[in-house]
Amino acid sequence: MNENLKEACGIFGIAGKENTNIYSKIYYGLFALQHRGQESAGIAGAMVNANGFKQKGIVKDMGIVPEALRNKFVEGNFGIGHVRYSTTGSSSIENSQPIQIKCNDEIFAIAHNGNIVNTAEIKQKLRVATFLTTSDSEVIANLIAHHYVSGKNFLECLKQAMKEIVGSYCLVILYQNKIIAVRDPNGFRPLVIGKNEDEEGEICVASETCALDAIGFSYMRDVEPGEIFVAEYAKGMKISSSTYSVLKDKISYCMFEYVYFARADSVINNASVYQVRKEMGKILASESYVDADIVIPVPDSGITAAIGYAEWCIEHSKRICYSEGLMKNRYVGRTFILPNQADREKELCTKLNPIKTEIDGKRIVLIDDSIVRGTTIKRLIKILRDKGAKEVHIRVSCPPIKFTCKFGIDMQTAKEFIARDKSIDEIAALIGADSLQYISRDGLVKAIGTENLCYACLTGISPVTEKQTKLIE
Ligand code: SF4
Repeated sequence: MNENLKEACGIFGIAGKENTNIYSKIYYGLFALQHRGQESAGIAGAMVNANGFKQKGIVKDMGIVPEALRNKFVEGNFGIGHVRYSTTGSSSIENSQPIQIKCNDEIFAIAHNGNIVNTAEIKQKLRVATFLTTSDSEVIANLIAHHYVSGKNFLECLKQAMKEIVGSYCLVILYQNKIIAVRDPNGFRPLVIGKNEDEEGEICVASETCALDAIGFSYMRDVEPGEIFVAEYAKGMKISSSTYSVLKDKISYCMFEYVYFARADSVINNASVYQVRKEMGKILASESYVDADIVIPVPDSGITAAIGYAEWCIEHSKRICYSEGLMKNRYVGRTFILPNQADREKELCTKLNPIKTEIDGKRIVLIDDSIVRGTTIKRLIKILRDKGAKEVHIRVSCPPIKFTCKFGIDMQTAKEFIARDKSIDEIAALIGADSLQYISRDGLVKAIGTENLCYACLTGISPVTEKQTKLIE
């Protein structure tokens, strides 16, 4: 249970048919991406047709999608949207997205997911007197505008900006008659392309496929690392794409998207998150099976891995049943979103209620997706023991987290990570578990099915190039 890991953001963009309005599609796309950010939401729209294009403005506000966008509307058949969790920049309306930038008497709107590590350097170069926000998105937008002023083609300016930006970024841009989607050369954060099977010619991009499902679009493919994908109106919909990866970076998908951040019903980087998580559970069981009566998840984030663990047990004729064990009150928000630990602790007590009949007298395997500080799992173990559990064994579907993330996941300081300077046995003793095992790094890679991963928060080794690493340090 990620009591301290905060998600990045969710982005969405759609190029709709002429004379249609895509506001509700963006709204429901963002709604499906709500798990990626709950601080603010916004939508920018434009009317695009054979006669040209007209920006129709932006609506945005603080809160989850239904709160932020209540009674708001923006016209247009092209548009982009954003849900935000602040990885950099404070939680305020100024920092909500999309943002608009004016350059060369033109306006473009941009929304961003990720974290730029060389913002200070870029700001210095831009010599912009005052930035209106403290978010990375404004820095990226100004960098693009800085190059655009020099009179080049917009996409060339975007490529130039990509050359200078270091870090993780997925962008959606509403520019003239185009929706432009950009993914950084490492591919840290996911970005997918979908199409409307019913309305030929409608294209959308989103952080995850769950947003495509929400509006009835089908998954075409991922935006590739380093790719600039363009959907534009020119007497009908036209799609083009170019790949820009001057830094020749190694592809480094964030492993944590699979472990926790992405929705289980999403497909990212051409892999089903649900299947990956189930495989993590199976591998976890194969690596660290322990004789017990029931396997239960920490809901919701541990459910899929716990199902995988239980499936492995059945396949290997082990007498262990899957049970819910802990009942989640679904009307309480995700605890880690709350700003301070005291509030989070109070909330946990109302959030997860143990089912005594399932627990009393049982030897339990409790599956969690990760352990950060260990305070939540420690309290859960105590709750289970108070309800009569005979043994509580903890199995974790992510290896120990020891380092902070520089690529868009807001973590506490590394000093607070329980695994930072403690052995597994020491952690088990601290949290009060009868035993504790994490999935191995090889097991994690096998479950995800690719070695093109970032696991800098496990190893401290950054996947970016030496030149970029210097910028980070
Ligand atoms: S450091 Fe960890 S959380 Fe950050 S991008 Fe890499 S794998 Fe993801």
